[in-house]
Amino acid sequence: GQEQLFQVTVSAQEGGLVLCVFRDISEAEQAGAMRRDFVANVSHELRTPLTALIGFIETLRHAARDDPAARDRFLGIMEHEAGRMNRLVRDLLQLSRVEAEERVRPRDRVEVRGVLEGVISSLRGVAEREGSSVVLTGAGAVVPGDADQLTQVFTNLIENALKYGNAGQVVRVTLTPEETVRGAAVRVDVADQGEGIDPVHLPRLTERFYRVDSHRSRELGGTGLGLAIVKHIVSRHRGWLRVDSVPGEGSRFSVVLPLG
Ligand code: ADP
Repeated sequence: GQEQLFQVTVSAQEGGLVLCVFRDISEAEQAGAMRRDFVANVSHELRTPLTALIGFIETLRHAARDDPAARDRFLGIMEHEAGRMNRLVRDLLQLSRVEAEERVRPRDRVEVRGVLEGVISSLRGVAEREGSSVVLTGAGAVVPGDADQLTQVFTNLIENALKYGNAGQVVRVTLTPEETVRGAAVRVDVADQGEGIDPVHLPRLTERFYRVDSHRSRELGGTGLGLAIVKHIVSRHRGWLRVDSVPGEGSRFSVVLPLG
């Protein structure tokens, strides 16, 4: 049935009067609000590096013109900001692509362990820089899926584990057969030994641009879209994502993928 949702704002007015505003936020209204929020977020995320770029171009043109050391430093910052915009646009395109395809279930046969081995080997450099390692255990499993998209899922999860984990940690990736109410499945756990996530954040973690600590996420090159992409791809595979975390000890992201 159609549910009616209201946002209620209560404010005290002069003379002891209380003003109560009911705003209809039923389905269509909510969808519109989400779209507006999304556009506002994207604009803000693009504008920040763009403003920096424009500022540094100005500086290069004037103040830093005859100072090679300053010029090199500014070019370095500009490269960094342009990289940020590039990652954001890449993730936005990816997100819109997986959202558009969400209803069509991919049908290739994908060997999950092979996908994980590929992801781990391509992230070896990132892990080594942190003095960390990624350890894979568990038997192989074949699922109906899209190998590139599953590669994206595990890249995002393992990259996050390395990014938000402590240096020198072991990230454990484990494959486990699982019987679900909908039949046989395989569960992939990605467990880090990092800072963990306060439980209040867990329900919102896969929202676009939701970050526990925006400053830290940006510093680490995050766009805030990684887990939103993961959620859509996993749901396209008729699977689901679960997060468990103990603050101070680490987090475990689990993806369950049906075998049939
Ligand atoms: P980002 O690009 O910011 O990493 P994600 O969508 O991948 O965006 O993740 C959203 C937020 O979830 C991150 O900003 C971070 O706060 C939190 N997060 C994700 N993975 C982990 C993890 N393994 N440990 C702790 N926090 C995490």
